[in-house]
Amino acid sequence: MAETEPVVVVGAGPVGLVAAAALLRNGVKVTLVEAGPTLSGEMRGSTFHAPTLDMLDELGATPKMIAQGLVAPRLQYRDRETGVIADFDFGAIADVTRHPFRLQCEQFKLTRILYGIIRDDPNFSVRFDAEVTACADHGNEVRVTLADGAVIAAPYVVGCDGARSPVRKSSGLAFEGFTWPERFLVLSTEYDFREVIPGLSDVSYFSDPEEWFFLLRVPGLWRAMFPVPAEVADEATGTEAYARDRWRRLNTGRDDYPIRHRTLYRVHQRVAERFGHGRILLAGDAAHINNPLGGMGLNGGVHDAVNLAGKLARVWHGDAAPRLLDLYDRQRRGVIVEHVQRQTIQNKQNLEARDAAAREAYKRRMRETAGDPALARDFLLGASMIKSLRRAAEIE
Ligand SMILES: Cc1cc2nc3c(=O)[nH]c(=O)nc-3n(C[C@H](O)[C@H](O)[C@H](O)COP(=O)(O)OP(=O)(O)OC[C@H]3O[C@@H](n4cnc5c(N)ncnc54)[C@H](O)[C@@H]3O)c2cc1C
Repeated sequence: MAETEPVVVVGAGPVGLVAAAALLRNGVKVTLVEAGPTLSGEMRGSTFHAPTLDMLDELGATPKMIAQGLVAPRLQYRDRETGVIADFDFGAIADVTRHPFRLQCEQFKLTRILYGIIRDDPNFSVRFDAEVTACADHGNEVRVTLADGAVIAAPYVVGCDGARSPVRKSSGLAFEGFTWPERFLVLSTEYDFREVIPGLSDVSYFSDPEEWFFLLRVPGLWRAMFPVPAEVADEATGTEAYARDRWRRLNTGRDDYPIRHRTLYRVHQRVAERFGHGRILLAGDAAHINNPLGGMGLNGGVHDAVNLAGKLARVWHGDAAPRLLDLYDRQRRGVIVEHVQRQTIQNKQNLEARDAAAREAYKRRMRETAGDPALARDFLLGASMIKSLRRAAEIE
């Protein structure tokens, strides 16, 4: 097949749309294939970090996201009993990013914004209601099979089809790692917690040896996340009594905050053994998943998609040999393992630490870090994923 036929991107989630938009921007023809009848309305991820916003700005999305989102200039760590441990101001990294803040904006908004930007591009086509069931590399082309039996041939396929990725599975790539025994419950409410928790930041993590939680504001809502122990049945978490118990943990003297959304998630730490195999490439949750503490899953997926699109475009245009795609695997898989997996596991362990000495050491470390401008800046470079991007760029 001609190398200049459209690249097939599987999955119109946030990472698939970023991959499609970034490929189009690099002059590559794209066919986007999505199992659902339309774009998903799932809220899930809502934190966008500074370098991700810089990248999405190049695709024309960031100003629209800011208009629909909420700029969070600070990040706070608290202890449930004793209050604020550390408070960070993203202004400390304003010299290395055009967006020195976290943007709180639900991921379904990003997909709609990007789709609006690319839908009329003559190099773009999309197929909804098109579930991919298999994907096979035939050496000179990839054949993508849909549930209705149709087959699409493409020079390259980018699997952005989420954690269960049929693209990854049909390539025989293992998804190594583990699943946490507890699940995470997200409750959202229109109640404004700033009325009862003085000085609360838009993003606040509360450590507690019995039950950590975090509070995060998105436009018009607060989202609270709690761990659910393995012995609690899924159904039990849907009751009013269970929610009231959770709200009591906030120590505000109230337990009756009205619930707008209630979602229970299983949480994993897994990385595909490779982010590509011949002409089939993986990005986003199809390639790696992690717990949401730190907001690094989707952000990491956007970083994958942008990295991959630049390299794949050069190969597709005939300006680079296909082995350039191996560098994508080394760079992105490398930092996902070294930074994102390690950091998100550490974030969870910090919040849930039971041992008194470990808790004190964590609090002391955080206080010292927040109190020293150089350490605080270094911390924010890590938390906003700038460090992981710098590291990826060093890998050859
Ligand atoms: C509670 C929670 C909070 C989170 N918060 C954050 C956060 O604040 N920041 C952050 O960075 N990350 C966060 N994450 C992670 C984030 O939601 C995911 O990393 C993100 O959704 C990954 O995007 P994706 O496009 O790779 O996959 P998905 O969002 O799963 O999209 C996959 C797409 O592929 C389609 N698809 C699937 N199978 C097929 C098929 N066979 N054929 C065709 N199409 C198919 C699906 O319909 C879907 O549209 C959070 C996750 C959870 C659970």
